Amino acid sequence: MIVYNLACDQHHPFEGWFSSPIDFENQRDRGLVECPVCGSKQVERKLHAPRINVGAAPATKVEAVESATQPDGEIDHAKLAQAISGFVKNVRENTEYVGEKFAEEARAMHYGEKPRKGIRGRADKDTARELRDEGIEFQSLPFPVDFPNAH
Ligand SMILES: [Zn+2]
Repeated sequence: MIVYNLACDQHHPFEGWFSSPIDFENQRDRGLVECPVCGSKQVERKLHAPRINVGAAPATKVEAVESATQPDGEIDHAKLAQAISGFVKNVRENTEYVGEKFAEEARAMHYGEKPRKGIRGRADKDTARELRDEGIEFQSLPFPVDFPNAH
């Protein structure tokens, strides 16, 4: 599960739990996500950074969240924060930052023009959809990992 900080069009903040970024988009598009304060279904993820995409192993994030789930099913938020920072570190160490060139680089690798490697960078929603349509695998992250290569 992934916790998202959400806000409605009246700027009421709230949290929502989803199994994946796709799950969030599906539920929202079907009007199943609504503001607990005013009932608005105009809900957006509260993200200051643009959508981030990386080429890292998708399983890592799931493991991170599972490790923060206590036996009673509650999420240990301190552990979750720790797990996420571990995940970010893992992404940082195993991918190269390509910024706005994410789509270009991902395509070049997909079509064999460049050797495959892990990359991280940005793509807008439409571009991300096009990449998926082309069969290019990547993962959207619900938190910003948009940092250059400098350690
Ligand atoms: Zn609201």
